[in-house]
Amino acid sequence: MRSLVLIGHGSHLNGESASAVYRYAEMIRARGLYDEVVEGYWKEEPSLRQVLKTVASTDVTVIPMFISEGYFTETVIPREMGLGHQGPVPPEGVARVLGGRTVRYTLPYGVHPSMSEVILARAHEALPDASPEDTALIVLGHGTTRNENSNKIVYQNAEVLRQAGQFAEVHALFLDEDPKVGTWPDVVKAPRVVVVPFFASEGWHTLETIPEDMGLEGAVTTFADNPHGEQTVYYAKPVGTHSAVADVILHLAEEAAGASSSDGDTERAHDAAWATFMDRAREGLRFGEVMVFPESGMFELRHALDEGRPGHELHTLVTPEGVRDQTRRDEGGHHRPVHTLRNMPRGWRAVLNEADLVRAVQYLYPAVIEETYAHSCHTLRPTPWVTTARRQTGIYARVQKATPAQVEEVAADVCGGCLRTRLWAGDKLPQTFFGGVPGAIPCAEACTFLVAEVREEVAGKRGGGGG
Ligand code: SF4
Repeated sequence: MRSLVLIGHGSHLNGESASAVYRYAEMIRARGLYDEVVEGYWKEEPSLRQVLKTVASTDVTVIPMFISEGYFTETVIPREMGLGHQGPVPPEGVARVLGGRTVRYTLPYGVHPSMSEVILARAHEALPDASPEDTALIVLGHGTTRNENSNKIVYQNAEVLRQAGQFAEVHALFLDEDPKVGTWPDVVKAPRVVVVPFFASEGWHTLETIPEDMGLEGAVTTFADNPHGEQTVYYAKPVGTHSAVADVILHLAEEAAGASSSDGDTERAHDAAWATFMDRAREGLRFGEVMVFPESGMFELRHALDEGRPGHELHTLVTPEGVRDQTRRDEGGHHRPVHTLRNMPRGWRAVLNEADLVRAVQYLYPAVIEETYAHSCHTLRPTPWVTTARRQTGIYARVQKATPAQVEEVAADVCGGCLRTRLWAGDKLPQTFFGGVPGAIPCAEACTFLVAEVREEVAGKRGGGGG
C-alpha cells in the first residue's frame, strides 16, 4: 500500500487557494497509481501537523506543491511535519521513519527538470506555430522574495530551452528583480514573443501586474513602435495550472521512492480508528455537527439539524468531492479554514458507499476521526501553547511575545466557536463522540488559524480573519 501526500499553502481567507492542489490530487487519484492521494495545508486542514495521521499506509511520499524552493519548502513544511530536517532539500529528497511510517519528502514540483516541458507546452498553447526563425520566449519569474527563491529555476529552465533551439531567443525576466519584465522591448528582438509566467497559479500577478508591466491588453498584443520594430506578444497561462504538472508530480514521487519502492502496510492506528468509526456508522452516529446512518445498503450523511427532513428538501450529494465543495463555505459564503468551527452549512445530504463515506468524512472533518480515536486510547499527546509559539518563525515568531492573558482572550473568541476541546490549554475531555457526545472532539494543539489571530492581537491589529 502506498500513499501520496500533496502539500499546499492554503489560506485562512481565500477558499480558492487550495483548489489547484485539490485538482491535482483528483487527477492523480483517477490514475489509480497510489492507494490514496491525500492533501495537507499550512493554513487549512488537515494541517501540516495533522496530515501524516490521516494517511492509511506506512509508505508515504510527500510532495510540496510549490513552484520553487524557499522558506515554506525548506523550513515550514519539514518543521511542522516533524521531519527533523531544515534547510535545502537534497535532490534525492529526505527520508525518515516517523511513527512507524516511512516518509519521503521531495523537492517542490516546480524545480523538477521536466517543468521545462510544461513551459514549452504553455508556449505552444499561446502560439502553436512558434518557430526558431522569428519567435522569442520569455520565461517570466517572480524573483527572489522573502519566501521563495525562484530565480535560479527560471534561469535553469531558460537555459535548457535555449539549448533546445526551438526559439530564436530565450530570456529569463522577473517581476521583482533585474532583469525586470518591463525592459522586454529593449532586450527582445524577435517580431513574435511568447511570455510564459513561471507562477504556481492564476492570480493578481498573472492577471494584473505582469500585463501592466508589459503593457499587454489581452492574450495577444501588438506593439507597432518598439525599439526593434513591430512586435506581437502572446501571453500564456501560468505553468502551475497546466495538467502536465500531474505528470511532474508522479515523476518526482517515483524518483523519491527509487529502488526501495516496496509497498508499505496498512498503518495500524489509522486502520483501527476507521474500523471503529465504521462500526459506529453502521449503528448510526452523530459526530460534530453531522449524523451518519445506514440507508438501503449505503450510508447517508447530513447536518444533524436537518434530521427528519425529507430527502427531496435537501440537496443530494453522491461523491466525497461533492461533500467537500458543499461544506467549504458557511451559509454566508465565507471560507471555512477550520472545519470544526460551528458553522457547517445545512440543507444537504450525501448518499455514499462505505469507501466514499470515509473520504467524505476526511474532507468534512480532517484528522478528527484519527485524533478522537487516539484520545479515546490515551495516545493523543497535547502540545502546550508555549511549545507551539516557540516553534513559530518568520512573521509568526512574534506570537512568542503574547501574554497568557492575550492567548486566552483570543482563544475564548476563536475557540469559543469551535467544537474542539482545548487539551493544549489543559481542558479535559472525558467523553468523545465515540462515547455518545456528538460535539466532543479533542484539540491537541493550537491551529494555525488561532496562531494567526494571536499574531494579530500582539500586533494590535486584531479585528477578525487570520490571513
Ligand atoms: Fe478549534 Fe481553537 Fe483548536 Fe483551532 S485552536 S482547532 S479554533 S479549538
